[in-house]
Amino acid sequence: MITKNNLLEEFTYAPFSKIKNEHFKPTIISAIDAARAEIDAITNSKEKPNFENTIAALEFSGKQLDRVTSIFFNLNSAETNKEIQKIAQEVSPLLTDFKNDTILNKTLFDKVKSVYEIQDQLELSVEQKTLLDEKYKAFSRNGANLPEDKQKELREIDKELSSLSLKFGENVLEETNKFELHITNEEDLKGLPDSFKEEAKSVAADKEKEGWIFTLQYPSYIPFMKYVENRELRKKMALAFGSKGFHNDELDNQENVLKIAKLRHRRANLLGFKTHAHFVLEQRMAETPDKVNNFLDQILEKAKPAAEREFSELENFAKKLDGIDQLQKWDAAFYGEKLKQELFDLNDEKLKPYFELESVIQGVFLVSNKLYGLNFTEVFDVDKYHPDVKTYQVTDEQNKDIALLYADFHPREGKRGGAWMTGYKPQYIQNGKNERPHISIVCNFTKPSKKDPSLLTFNEVTTLFHEFGHALHGMLANTTYPSISGANVYWDFVELPSQVLENWCYEKEALQLFAKHYKTGETIPMELVEKIKESANFHEGMATVRQLSFGMLDLSWHGIDPTNISNVKAHEDEAFEPTKLYPDVDKNCMSTSFSHIFQGGYSAGYYSYKWAEVLDADTFEYFQEQGIFSREVANKFRENILSQGGTEHPMTLYKRFRGKEPQPEALLKRAGLLPKE
Ligand SMILES: [Zn+2]
Repeated sequence: MITKNNLLEEFTYAPFSKIKNEHFKPTIISAIDAARAEIDAITNSKEKPNFENTIAALEFSGKQLDRVTSIFFNLNSAETNKEIQKIAQEVSPLLTDFKNDTILNKTLFDKVKSVYEIQDQLELSVEQKTLLDEKYKAFSRNGANLPEDKQKELREIDKELSSLSLKFGENVLEETNKFELHITNEEDLKGLPDSFKEEAKSVAADKEKEGWIFTLQYPSYIPFMKYVENRELRKKMALAFGSKGFHNDELDNQENVLKIAKLRHRRANLLGFKTHAHFVLEQRMAETPDKVNNFLDQILEKAKPAAEREFSELENFAKKLDGIDQLQKWDAAFYGEKLKQELFDLNDEKLKPYFELESVIQGVFLVSNKLYGLNFTEVFDVDKYHPDVKTYQVTDEQNKDIALLYADFHPREGKRGGAWMTGYKPQYIQNGKNERPHISIVCNFTKPSKKDPSLLTFNEVTTLFHEFGHALHGMLANTTYPSISGANVYWDFVELPSQVLENWCYEKEALQLFAKHYKTGETIPMELVEKIKESANFHEGMATVRQLSFGMLDLSWHGIDPTNISNVKAHEDEAFEPTKLYPDVDKNCMSTSFSHIFQGGYSAGYYSYKWAEVLDADTFEYFQEQGIFSREVANKFRENILSQGGTEHPMTLYKRFRGKEPQPEALLKRAGLLPKE
């Protein structure tokens, strides 16, 4: 029997309940064909290329493909199964081929380039200019302007880089998986809470072993380092964790690191950039390696004294408690946790009763209402992919449609871990109609039980606000072109809307709206809130310096010519010198398992975490000056940031909002690294 394929029909909302898995592949194939035909129409056109018939036409091509793949890949993250995973394996190469064919299409590039070259004669809006620049660079940054032999070299480098990164990742994974610490004497686990012991016991049982097994996976490794009193065992774990890819064996990554750094440098040179970091940062708010280096140095100067203070405080604490003379890396989490408990006596269980999920959702809705005048109405006639998913119609004060919001809060089999924001339909304006977006937030919060409603940890509360901040970026988007709408902005700018919203979780005025005890209705006591704030800053100096050290290591590989580097460990030691607190461990090396930058796409981008914090603290300071619910500041933020997406350079947008460039003082103050007035 052939079932009707509803994905091929026109639809407003994703028709989840009518989709059969077997429809995905044929639909994606036919959508690729349709997209190819649209591109052929551009390249075959006899008209002289102009913005509309080339750039805008390219931008709006493949719309059906985008919608179908967004449904498919979102499901693969939030409600997957073996069948969907298999289809993903099958369609991914087809999509890559299509993408590559487009980027390597010479006729198409020539047309784009001819528009690019006459742009000054065209009366383009700022947004159109940005779009033109983006389209042109998508080709040129992949070598479209190079002579044939150089293009060939570039393709070969790309191929080699992708297999090296893959190999790098496989080695790290295998190193992580092959290590286990098998404990048979319970005495060795003194200090470890029962729940983690149980977990380790079941890992052992799965392997038909007695006792407890610990691994280098975070959920096993982190509690071990935090709680286990046996210092020798902590050392053993830390040495194993820190030496992944650094054993001079078949899983060693030193050669891979050197090759990747050198190939990236060569690739950047071919494209006319001084270093790989110059290449990457061309499309970032930070713009140049110099700016990033200055930024990191500037924060380090302020954070280092605090970090040194904290370090010696911790060292004294460990000495007093256990007679430790020289604090080592494997002592950091353990004594840090002990000192924190002594200072704050704060735990999740104390806070959770004030954060019932439903109240927190209403809280984030209310905050959005006070800031942006948004109203959220739960609707029940929109198709969803799982009964747990909630759908809301979002409207503004004039009752105008703003967006559709999907919210999927609880874990289940088939959903990956973590929390994220995504979309099923972008916002854009076509034929005079402003198409409103369909945005989704997906989380993994504790489910309600028969006895209790879903009660969130404070960390989950800030996570919800974080993802909701991303969602606002998507929902309030108001641009013409979908590829630069909403959260489609430079990487070091994308976390501003999300991180800034987290600030409201620490404010009395906001908490009073929703943080009420689920049984008594009592508002959260302010001394608890103060404690949350203070404990959030615990050892902030050391944490900051640690993060800066990763950013500096990243740039040490990507912001210079690496041709003459031959010793990975020696190079790394040099890069770490300004941020060093603990004695070096010669058996350990960070670069050989630094997957963020050698496997994933974060090369020359690690600084972004701190960068975004500076932006969000600087933004929130503005709110604090005018009142955290100031409509005036909120309007400015909406007009200049949230609604603008990537239509202009983020620094331009930011300055228009704030009246000046972002300054790090607000962050340093918030983190307790500057004296408070
Ligand atoms: Zn985020």
